[in-house]
Amino acid sequence: MRLPRFDYLGPDNLEGALDLLATHRDDAKILAGGTDLLVRMKKGLLKPKNLISLKALNELSYIKEEDKCIKIGARTSLADIIASRLIQNKAYALFQACEKIGAVTIQHYKGTIGGNILQDNRCHHYNQSDFHRSGRQPCHKDGGKICYAREEADRCNSTCQSDGATALMALDARIILARKGGERTVDLTNFYTTDGIMPFAMESHELLKEIIIPVQKAQSAYQRLAYRSAIDYPIVCAGVLLKTSDTQKDEIDEARIIVGAMGRSPLFLAQVSSSLKGKKLNDTNAFKKAADASMDNASTFAVHNVGSTLEYRCAMVSQMVFQALEQAAKG
Ligand SMILES: Cc1cc2nc3c(=O)[nH]c(=O)nc-3n(C[C@H](O)[C@H](O)[C@H](O)COP(=O)(O)OP(=O)(O)OC[C@H]3O[C@@H](n4cnc5c(N)ncnc54)[C@H](O)[C@@H]3O)c2cc1C
Ligand code: SF4
Repeated sequence: MRLPRFDYLGPDNLEGALDLLATHRDDAKILAGGTDLLVRMKKGLLKPKNLISLKALNELSYIKEEDKCIKIGARTSLADIIASRLIQNKAYALFQACEKIGAVTIQHYKGTIGGNILQDNRCHHYNQSDFHRSGRQPCHKDGGKICYAREEADRCNSTCQSDGATALMALDARIILARKGGERTVDLTNFYTTDGIMPFAMESHELLKEIIIPVQKAQSAYQRLAYRSAIDYPIVCAGVLLKTSDTQKDEIDEARIIVGAMGRSPLFLAQVSSSLKGKKLNDTNAFKKAADASMDNASTFAVHNVGSTLEYRCAMVSQMVFQALEQAAKG
């Protein structure tokens, strides 16, 4: 498979990149590590006229603690995140998630955290070569009017399989989107649309600049299931955060349960999460109940488009959530 033709634009700094984005808008895509983008281009899923490279933008590569938050530049490599003591000590779920992404080559070679969050949703009916797709009618995401994953669907239900986004949502992260002349901060939980064709609520002239994780007195964990232990996307994953009460150290004050690879975005299960308030950290029954409720909730969003049977993935939600809760509780 060959890459389609494109112009390579290599700005020296953030301002230059934002200028180029403002000029080219829908005709351009940001190129970070390229481990998602270039594969999609080779399959003919995307044919941008211009690629704006972040290669020279070292200013977007950092991990630091500031104002009671961990701040990560969007171009920071997955390898740097895995190696960071700060992430290991204060954002453990993200460390666990990044360790599982793709393979060591993707983590060390070029894959970035920004690209991980913004990798396009996937669907095994769609993520195929031009040749494969040319033999049948296009689906919604391919510009057509049908969906192979859910017959009656009036929109695309492609699946978000980002490990990083699921862990970051558990950690209650925010992101900064920059554009020429300004920027805005968005809770990751509010960053998604309800259509898998364009899963992110972001404009074509915006660039993901920074990820912000509040430092909290909390324990987090991440679990995922994939067919292979490397070079494979998750078919189900779960990120959780457990905050304990200031007075009762063994009592949960606030929980966040996020289920990934089961919907168009990572799913924040607010009601199930709040059912854990007041429970003890060693309350296995409460964790089991929350895990089963997570399975019921997440099952309504998923469609059969990510390998494996839908029934199996749904059943495994309960396992992933339970294991993540147990692990976070142990600290
Ligand atoms: C074999 C294989 C296995 C993989 N396994 C996994 C896996 O297990 N889990 C997982 O989560 N991912 C997986 N991936 C997907 C991908 O490799 C990773 O998500 C990686 O982190 C993407 O980062 P990147 O820098 O290469 O992104 P790129 O490919 O450069 O970019 C991805 C998308 O984000 C946009 N983008 C990137 N940075 C910015 C920015 N700062 N502002 C605006 N837009 C931006 C690009 O325009 C593009 O649309 C896999 C990929 C392959 C090829
Ligand atoms: S979910 Fe349906 S519309 Fe979306 S990519 Fe898959 S087959 Fe196409």
